[in-house]
Amino acid sequence: MLILEFHPMPAPLQPIQSTPQIPDRADAVVIGGGIVGVFAAYYLTMRGLKVALVEKGRIGAEQSSRNWGWCRQQNRDARELPMATHSLDLWQRFGSESGENTGFTRCGLLYLSNDERELATWARWRDFARTVGVTTRMLDSAAATRHGHATGRTWKGGVFSPTDGIADPASAAPAVARAILKQGGSVHQNCAARGLETAGGRVAGVITEQGTIRTPIAIMAGGAWGSSFCNQLGIRFPQASIRSSILAVSPGAAGLPDALHTAAISVTRRGDGGYTLAISGRGRVDPTLQQLRFAPQFLPMFRRRWRNLLPGGLGGINAGHETLRPWRLDRPTPMERMRILDPTPDQGTIQRTHRRALDLLPALRTTTVTAAWAGYIDSTPDGVPAIGEIGALPGFILAAGFSGHGFGIGPGAGHLIADIITGDAAIVEPGPYHPRRFAGFAVGKVAEF
Ligand SMILES: Cc1cc2nc3c(=O)[nH]c(=O)nc-3n(C[C@H](O)[C@H](O)[C@H](O)COP(=O)(O)OP(=O)(O)OC[C@H]3O[C@@H](n4cnc5c(N)ncnc54)[C@H](O)[C@@H]3O)c2cc1C
Repeated sequence: MLILEFHPMPAPLQPIQSTPQIPDRADAVVIGGGIVGVFAAYYLTMRGLKVALVEKGRIGAEQSSRNWGWCRQQNRDARELPMATHSLDLWQRFGSESGENTGFTRCGLLYLSNDERELATWARWRDFARTVGVTTRMLDSAAATRHGHATGRTWKGGVFSPTDGIADPASAAPAVARAILKQGGSVHQNCAARGLETAGGRVAGVITEQGTIRTPIAIMAGGAWGSSFCNQLGIRFPQASIRSSILAVSPGAAGLPDALHTAAISVTRRGDGGYTLAISGRGRVDPTLQQLRFAPQFLPMFRRRWRNLLPGGLGGINAGHETLRPWRLDRPTPMERMRILDPTPDQGTIQRTHRRALDLLPALRTTTVTAAWAGYIDSTPDGVPAIGEIGALPGFILAAGFSGHGFGIGPGAGHLIADIITGDAAIVEPGPYHPRRFAGFAVGKVAEF
């Protein structure tokens, strides 16, 4: 039986050299160096703004390096599809305009199924996708079986989305951070933002552990830490994290698709030729007071996903990312105590994932497990990210709650954030993303969205 006592990442996260000193002033400060924060900072520096990005740990070290790397339009919520489509173009363009390599490739994503209902859902999505110019091909049984020959099974049907792709989680956020530095922006790691300074009711500065940066604009792109940071400001942002556990195997399996989804298992080829294996949607809920607080908003989502969501342990409370306790701005905060959220992978899920993968794809039997790890996926009640300026605190832009899709749409989200700040034409209609849709849940000092 496979028991892993270690949980390193499959490929070392590319290191980034920090800018030696935080600036006194900036046109905008981005809080959080995940894929969303780096792309927001990148598009702002491209427009000539002086931008400082502060990251409490290392660039990309939380969700943005722990994911499968899928950049997909396939089966996206209608509200998110335009951002997914633009993001694929932006991933491609970023490579040519910056000279940096994110490992992005439009390899296409393959979905296989023997479930008539699932196939009917995919067909309905294909019909809708056509109306917005997105290409996706339904596969009949013969075509699905041909595409899925590595499984050695007959399939009732499937989907191939040829314009979707993958990028490399270990290099993507660092590549964008290097581009920010080349454009004249500054990047500060081991630099937690503790809070904000305000003047006349609007943002006037970001207080970090290394000092205060005067700025009229603060962007909170802190992933799973978004809600607790907002809570300190009196902003009620319903967010919950789910611990997702996955593993990597060594290179050596031949003839597998680059990216395959089935109900049992999903498989993604990495840049080093190995594969990342996961069970889609499966995770553990580590209860915290924040989760109790927002339980009424999340119950419908949890109810829909009950088969795949299992009760967790005390890891969430110990990690501190969902704390409701007020912190002082002149002392180390929970963000400095937990530089990198590195939750313990669930051994049961790891073993089950590995077993299912070997069963579905015999070629994987020649490989060995090289790593197993977990990440906290930060979600909103409707599974769509919260992106927009908080009306009651002008200058404060929230960009969190990417609900398991934020890697692929990181470029589009970063572009939209830059559009909101500079007043340029928005790359996508911003309305569906605005946090004001949670306004019914807003109470506290800064209650208005
Ligand atoms: C196992 C797994 C598989 C996934 N698969 C996919 C996939 O295939 N495709 C896809 O699109 N998405 C996927 N996702 C989701 C995706 O990884 C996330 O949605 C995305 O990375 C979120 O990016 P982010 O920048 O918002 O957050 P993060 O990457 O979590 O970054 C937030 C950063 O903010 C920093 N931070 C927080 N608070 C502060 C503060 N106060 N001061 C300074 N820094 C702070 C943190 O240290 C962190 O580095 C997956 C996630 C997981 C865990």
